[in-house]
Amino acid sequence: MTNLAKKVADAFLFRTYSPEDSLTDQPIYTTGSIVFGGLLRAMIILFITYWAVEKYYLYQFWYFSLFIVWALAIAPAYEQYQNFHKRMEELKEETLCGTCKHFENGSQLCRIYDEHVSINHIPCEGDSWEPK
Ligand code: SF4
Repeated sequence: MTNLAKKVADAFLFRTYSPEDSLTDQPIYTTGSIVFGGLLRAMIILFITYWAVEKYYLYQFWYFSLFIVWALAIAPAYEQYQNFHKRMEELKEETLCGTCKHFENGSQLCRIYDEHVSINHIPCEGDSWEPK
């Protein structure tokens, strides 16, 4: 897969979770990218359903778009969030950062160094650790 194809797949939340994600310094998904991906999907679905309703006079079926948004935007985003949460739990248990007050849970980030944290990468190497 090319870099562009990967970025598009990631933006639309198509990448599936793998345990290796906990090891990468640059996480594929964080809370912000999950929300962005969900909104992107929802916008496109609403745009397409609006177009279909107008074109084919499906006014009595407009509420189906809500089910489609749920199935194709909200549910996948929720699943990605569950995966992200699971990965954060692993990181908390396996790294020093998990017990540090400078660790930002929602973005897998060290607030002091402004870098993503992973099992392989502790930006301060323990020097700036402070208990929560
Ligand atoms: S200060 Fe060090 S231990 Fe604390 S979150 Fe940042 S890198 Fe991790």
